[in-house]
Amino acid sequence: MRKNSAINEILKMLYEKKGYIISFFCTSFIILVLNLMEPLLARRFINNIIITVRNKYTILLGLLWILVFSLRTVIEYVKKRTYTIFRGQTIKCIQKEIFKKSILIPSRKAEELGTGYIVSRINDDADSLDGLMCDNLIGLFFAIIQGTWVLLLMVKMNFILALCSIVIAIGYVSVQFFYPLKKLYKNFAEARSVFNNDLYNTLQGLRVIKTHNSETFEQGRFESNISELISFKNKREFADIFRRTASSYLYTLGTPLIYFTGGILILKGQCTVGVIVAFIMLYNLFASSCMTIGTFFPQYNTSVGAAERIQEFLNRDGEKDTVFDPVSNSEGDKNRIGKEETSPIISFDHVSFSYANDSQYSVKDVSFTVYPNKHIAIVGPSGSGKSTIANLLLRLEEPSLGIIYLYGKPITDYEVHTVRSLFGYIQQENYLFSRTVYENIAQGKNLSSEEVKRVLKEAYADSFIAEWQLGINTPISEKGKSMSGGERQRICIAREFAKNAPIILMDEATSSLDPLADAVVLKAIESISKNRTVITITHKLSSIKNADIIYVLNEGRIVEAGTFDSLMESKGLYFTMYTYQENRAK
Ligand code: ADP
Repeated sequence: MRKNSAINEILKMLYEKKGYIISFFCTSFIILVLNLMEPLLARRFINNIIITVRNKYTILLGLLWILVFSLRTVIEYVKKRTYTIFRGQTIKCIQKEIFKKSILIPSRKAEELGTGYIVSRINDDADSLDGLMCDNLIGLFFAIIQGTWVLLLMVKMNFILALCSIVIAIGYVSVQFFYPLKKLYKNFAEARSVFNNDLYNTLQGLRVIKTHNSETFEQGRFESNISELISFKNKREFADIFRRTASSYLYTLGTPLIYFTGGILILKGQCTVGVIVAFIMLYNLFASSCMTIGTFFPQYNTSVGAAERIQEFLNRDGEKDTVFDPVSNSEGDKNRIGKEETSPIISFDHVSFSYANDSQYSVKDVSFTVYPNKHIAIVGPSGSGKSTIANLLLRLEEPSLGIIYLYGKPITDYEVHTVRSLFGYIQQENYLFSRTVYENIAQGKNLSSEEVKRVLKEAYADSFIAEWQLGINTPISEKGKSMSGGERQRICIAREFAKNAPIILMDEATSSLDPLADAVVLKAIESISKNRTVITITHKLSSIKNADIIYVLNEGRIVEAGTFDSLMESKGLYFTMYTYQENRAK
């Protein structure tokens, strides 16, 4: 991605609110005028006082000076307040875009990037965009005008004092401009992304850490990771501290230098006290203009780095055929599609798929058909391609070869959301958000409490939730690990009940459950399977004896198909696996 186009895209997002830009422009302009008035008033007032001109005009000058000073403070307050609102709103807009992209990119890509990477983009990078905000750009514009104007005034008032100020300002700005910080900022941001990712990943594996007594190892690993991160941070900080110290020294050196040079000039009769006081003010204005210009560039560089990373993320491809707000359409399609009762719902036509887009196919030349209200099972050893078929059905992946038909049309003719609205998907890793039971079940839909209670009942999840004080309003995070796998799974099944999809797709839905929990979950599964088409993916062969047809996968190919009885009779792979599992269970 070219740097400029990245910045342009981000700028477009930042500059949608024109009212704020006008407001920044106007307030900055008023502050500029007031800034320039103050030293002129001061010079006139002090010179009048020194030569003891006692008239109303001198008093008025003094009062006007105080008024200008106060008014500027008030306007600066208003400007900063407006900026805070503007900043909050624009950063929110960008964070919304990043989040939107993070849920639109293919899930495999998001998993590869890692949660920490995406969180870093949303939190850290979006927060580092100040350098591109219009307040700063307008600030830069006025700083250049103010700096130039003040410079002319200074030269006009006293050339020697002006020269001192210019020399110091050039030194100051050079340190700000040319100090190489951008790479160090970028290195640190990248290191922090990697660190965050690793931290999330480690904390998710807390159970493994505990059961392997590897706390000390993890502590050591964390220490080494954080030391590495701190070393990146220190490099950046040291460089920054040096830059700030050097520039602050040059900045503050201006005042004693003006007093010193001005003092000598007064002794020689080439300057007045009023001019020196005005000059100190002018120098401060000049230095603050240089400061604005100087600090703008490092901040700008940080922001450009952040903008590039954000834009690189936003430029990633989303899933094909995805519209962001699909609710109404998918519901309509779901109803229409459900009406065609007799023709096949799903047909795989010589489908092959490779994760790496090469000839290493995880699914090879697979063809099968699913009819309405039938129960089909896909079984096979681990790694044979069962879950990949589920991914293809849900359009989490697209076939490399062949076509999948849904209700007679290629699956790619449907929007992704329409396809997904047709499936109730129950997985082994049942995921519940740290939200309330109600929110987990509704998943954004507007369901009444009664509806939620009904689906919980249908999924045999009502009894244990009724015992919780807050019932369906209990946050899942509160119950956390005190819930059994079976209970969590039943809440997940209730969520699919609420979705009311015509096809139930189960991927090892009961594989991690103990036999007791399994029995209740199986009842819930039977309940949701009624009057629906069911596709069960499992390696647990005893659980699919009643399936209308069983497809046996091996190394990505369908090697056998038939009912339980016919497969047992043919004494092929299914027979071998079934007999093995039964013998182990005894
Ligand atoms: P099963 O569900 O039968 O255990 P999978 O469908 O998960 O098998 O995997 C089939 C093959 O695809 C395996 O060789 C596996 O290593 C590979 N595979 C699965 N997921 C990915 C992935 N995200 N990236 C690359 N290869 C993958």
